[in-house]
Amino acid sequence: MRAYQGVADSLAAINQRRWEHGVARSVLVTGGNRGIGLAIAQAFAAQGDKVAVTHRGSGAPDGLLGVKCDVTSAAEVDAAFAEVEAAHGPVEVLVANAGITDDTLLLRMTEEQFTRVLDANLTGSFRVAQRASRGMLRKRYGRIVFISSVVGLTGSAGQVNYAASKAGLVGVARSIARELGSRNITANVVAPGFITTDMTDALPEERRKEILAQVPAGRYGTTEEIAAAVTFLASDAAAYITGAVIPVDGGLGMGH
Ligand code: NDP
Repeated sequence: MRAYQGVADSLAAINQRRWEHGVARSVLVTGGNRGIGLAIAQAFAAQGDKVAVTHRGSGAPDGLLGVKCDVTSAAEVDAAFAEVEAAHGPVEVLVANAGITDDTLLLRMTEEQFTRVLDANLTGSFRVAQRASRGMLRKRYGRIVFISSVVGLTGSAGQVNYAASKAGLVGVARSIARELGSRNITANVVAPGFITTDMTDALPEERRKEILAQVPAGRYGTTEEIAAAVTFLASDAAAYITGAVIPVDGGLGMGH
């Protein structure tokens, strides 16, 4: 335990030095107050970046700057960015992670159910990416990572709205990669498979078993495994990767 405390203390000291010498980046993770987003935010914070997360009233865990923001409101997105810019400087790394599901079969899905999911997952990601791109263009530096889903590539019964929103992110990312690539801004997609969070805990046990039976890795993924792919895509080592879709799904979506 004491040895662990020693490691934690030295990490904190290294991070403090990164902040003082201005090498820590300003990172914003939407929906970073819990689930996959929180693991991503914590991974960036652990490597010494200045990390802000959006939340819709829950506040942010210790060590992260919480900014209140519903991504379905352009005005709230703008205000949240202004707050992050004042505290940490312009956003250099954006992770568009906030997302919802509202599952039902095509015949039963209302137009409101379809557009609500699209508005949060796809248009919400557009709103934050567009707002972040201003500062990134000025800085001639940026890393944008969209959190999609294996379902965006394979489709999924009962998820016409969700799958459409997640597939749309691929088009968004690849278009941004083409528009902003020459300005040292990359845009990539991470497509998680079945990851244990509140979102998947909400599925009926029967459905969870069905999905698991199709995962070559034979287990659910962890939020930390998604965070590892995201921090890599935002690192210097990934500077030449843009417009890519990286599956982190235990093989569930292989071939797509
Ligand atoms: P959770 O349901 O655990 O968390 C969702 C997060 O999104 C919360 O922080 C929530 O905020 C936020 N959010 C939802 N709607 C909005 C909105 N309108 N404005 C701002 N924030 C919003 O989900 P996960 O952590 O499991 O999922 C994170 C992302 O990963 C999602 O985009 C999801 O589609 C994707 N994904 C998840 C998979 C999984 O297996 N779990 C698989 C593939 C993709 P609040 O706390 O305020 O509700």
